[in-house]
Amino acid sequence: MAPHADIEAASSAKADVRSPERYQVIIIGAGLSGMYQLYRLRELGCSVRVFEAGDGVGGTWYWNRYPGARFDSESWTYGLSFSHDLLQEWSWKEHFAAQPETLRYCNYLADKFDLRRDITFNARVVAAAYDENANDWEVGFEDGRRARARFLITAIGPLSAPTMPAIPGVGDFRGEAYHTAKWPHAPVSFKGKRVAVIGTGATGVQTITEVAKTALHLSVFQRTPNWCAPLHNAAIDAETQVHIKASYPEIFARCRESYGCFIHDADPRNALEVPAEEREAFYERRYAEPGFGIWMGNFRDILIDKAANDTVTDFMRRKIRARVHNPELAERLIPTNHGFGTRRVPLESGYYEVYNQPNVRLVDLRETPIERITPNGIRTSDAEHPFDMIIYATGFDAITGAFDRIHIRGRGGLRLKAKWADGPRTYLGLQVAGFPNMLTLVGPHNAATFCNIPRCIEQNVEWVTELLRYMDHKGYTRIEPSPDAEHAWTQHVHESAARLLLLEVDSWMTGVNRNVPGRQQRTFMAYAGGAPKYREKCDAVAAGGYEGFVLA
Ligand code: NAP
Repeated sequence: MAPHADIEAASSAKADVRSPERYQVIIIGAGLSGMYQLYRLRELGCSVRVFEAGDGVGGTWYWNRYPGARFDSESWTYGLSFSHDLLQEWSWKEHFAAQPETLRYCNYLADKFDLRRDITFNARVVAAAYDENANDWEVGFEDGRRARARFLITAIGPLSAPTMPAIPGVGDFRGEAYHTAKWPHAPVSFKGKRVAVIGTGATGVQTITEVAKTALHLSVFQRTPNWCAPLHNAAIDAETQVHIKASYPEIFARCRESYGCFIHDADPRNALEVPAEEREAFYERRYAEPGFGIWMGNFRDILIDKAANDTVTDFMRRKIRARVHNPELAERLIPTNHGFGTRRVPLESGYYEVYNQPNVRLVDLRETPIERITPNGIRTSDAEHPFDMIIYATGFDAITGAFDRIHIRGRGGLRLKAKWADGPRTYLGLQVAGFPNMLTLVGPHNAATFCNIPRCIEQNVEWVTELLRYMDHKGYTRIEPSPDAEHAWTQHVHESAARLLLLEVDSWMTGVNRNVPGRQQRTFMAYAGGAPKYREKCDAVAAGGYEGFVLA
């Protein structure tokens, strides 16, 4: 099938007969990665257009407007670092900013660098096909329009394909129903309402804590408890603000050297080398500190050595028991199928205390599974629970899901979804054999997925920009990884994760989503060797004339 015909089939019935718009580069997505890539490519003098499904910039922060949404990276480590002016002009109000502030930041960035003039909003890309003869990509939009470019850069984010639970009757409910990642732009009130939240991941934990403040009654439907740790958020006072603004070079230098580009880096000791009393005091300090110190700044072996992990897991178990008054309820909130940190740790602000409130009830789905959503509420194996509102905090088809939702075809009509059916295969998490000139920012097998994301976005974007500069300089028009390089990187990604205890449990990080057919096998979706090693490898590849890539 010709690429053009393929696009028309995937786009709406009203395929546009006009010639497609033409650019040198098309970027899909106007989140932080798409915006920063646009900024850099403009500097190269490229003709570049960003296509964004939403009606505003911000990506994750545009869509995830659910109550309580906020950072768990320190705000002052999160902003883009490329512009001194931007860093000095923007003042984060809290150490861990809430979603509205972060969305304002994204808009500020777009305004300051006049990015909107190169962004088309309300343009959801539904298909993209490589045209071998023209050496071009053609993308198709939901409304039938098309556009063409030599390069296609996906900036679609690792967590942008929300999933509803595979429960019968979803859609039958007659009350208000929201997925957290598709939260309405208008305010939603919980006052006087009986509210259900399904899901207790990082999103559910933030939502539950906020909704419990005003709902008449809140029921939490928990399938798997997670190990949550305190965020310890606070406002940034004037003196600290001055200090932060003066310290940006050191802050970013420190992030650059840490495993996940967070301000927290692992303690160089193994947990069991440290005497028990000192270890306990260390965990107490980390628990009392803001942010991910308890996870990222813990002993270096807690995520690879079960005995080391048991020590911190035991500590966290005692914390939950101390915070939840009802001992039986506390036990239900304690994970039993995985150790601390082996799934993404939700950071919370009073989450466990919510269960001491008289208006909150936990429904343990391991004992009484949901049978169906009914017009009036939720039916579990033992009761019918009536509600005014159901909130689905049921997560995402992570990392590859957003790719799967676009009908992407490469050389010879190869479908990306088919190529990745048994797990992603990439070179450096940035390109895929068979898909020339397509570059995947923050894609699978990339360190960025496991990262304080803007720090890794910067690395990805700057590397891609240099690649395009190099190709232009040398007169190359086509780049694709060799199958050998792709195979070697994919093997290396699997080896990088092989020792991780994270592989012993289902989570979005191990590619499992029981609501999505074909997503039941565990495969580590990100490069687990850490951001510094990843950067070194990318730099070495570039310095070697982009070895592993075939340039033509
Ligand atoms: P998630 O971690 O995948 O959690 C989804 C939740 O929904 C889980 O508790 C899951 O239970 C439950 N669930 C899914 N399908 C269900 C079903 N059919 N029946 C009952 N329960 C069901 O998704 P998330 O909470 O949206 O978080 C995803 C990631 O986004 C986070 O890990 C984090 O990286 C990011 N995030 C970041 C922030 C932040 O920066 N502050 C905030 C929120 C999210 P099971 O565990 O049993 O599958």
